[in-house]
Amino acid sequence: MLFKARSETDLLKILRILNTRKEQTLEEKQYYSKLEKGYEGEVQFDLLTEKLLNDCLILNDLLFEINGTKFQIDTVIIFQDTIYLIDIKFFDGEYLYDGENFQTSYGKIVKDPLNQLDRSKSLLLQLLQHLGFGLTVEAYVVFNNPDFTLYHAPQNKPIILPTQLNRFMKKLDKKPSKLNNSHIKLAEKLVRLNIVQTPDNHLPPYKYEQVKKGITCKTCHSFSVITKGRKVVCGACGHEELITTAVIRNVQEVKLLFPNRKITTKEIYDWCQVIKSKKRITRILGSNFKAVGVCKWTYYE
Ligand SMILES: [Zn+2]
Repeated sequence: MLFKARSETDLLKILRILNTRKEQTLEEKQYYSKLEKGYEGEVQFDLLTEKLLNDCLILNDLLFEINGTKFQIDTVIIFQDTIYLIDIKFFDGEYLYDGENFQTSYGKIVKDPLNQLDRSKSLLLQLLQHLGFGLTVEAYVVFNNPDFTLYHAPQNKPIILPTQLNRFMKKLDKKPSKLNNSHIKLAEKLVRLNIVQTPDNHLPPYKYEQVKKGITCKTCHSFSVITKGRKVVCGACGHEELITTAVIRNVQEVKLLFPNRKITTKEIYDWCQVIKSKKRITRILGSNFKAVGVCKWTYYE
């Protein structure tokens, strides 16, 4: 049973918007694409854990701190006697493990997922001990990108390769398990201890003036959007969206990018660019957000 769902972080959402609206350095592009790909891999793995039918609790995307050390876990599955800690890697292409280093086929050494896994496992064990739960922890790195190959894959390491994934999920599903109240208490405690990460430290600097304004297409992110009756239509892919939902979507973007700016009719009018009627924007803001203040000082929350 799913106990804690995964959702897109504000960091990912902001980087996605910046990727469309601002010139990115190569480094920024790579960082964004790494996060986007990582998230895609996690969501794909969630589709598999969702199918588990036996008695277990699934907690996705956790960040804990113990004794001043933070650690992040992609997926935790609580069974009767065992907790599975799973780190998901959506690497694609050919990699090589020489017993010491993980490297790409070009010889670029990447962070060893097994070291990271060991660290998380040991910290999770400390946390469980601290909470008074004596369950064993089994930890695995799951490589779930079908285009991933690992040469010299060691057989005695907790690695699940794409071709082993189905069997691994079947094994989990067959695990005898009967949960009781204390397992639920543990899951609740873990959710309570989960730290909600703020994106601040990982964001590149950006200013309002540097960000390209205009409604973007919901599907292809193009700026070639025009209004047609009650809809906005994308000139690049043909996607149509109600003006109301497009404006709401853009207000959310402004709020995410610039949490300190006040959402006013003028602000959104300037931002959207293609909507010619300020009255229409006031109406959309008024019926979808909470108005604060009066007349020309009105802003929306
Ligand atoms: Zn489009």
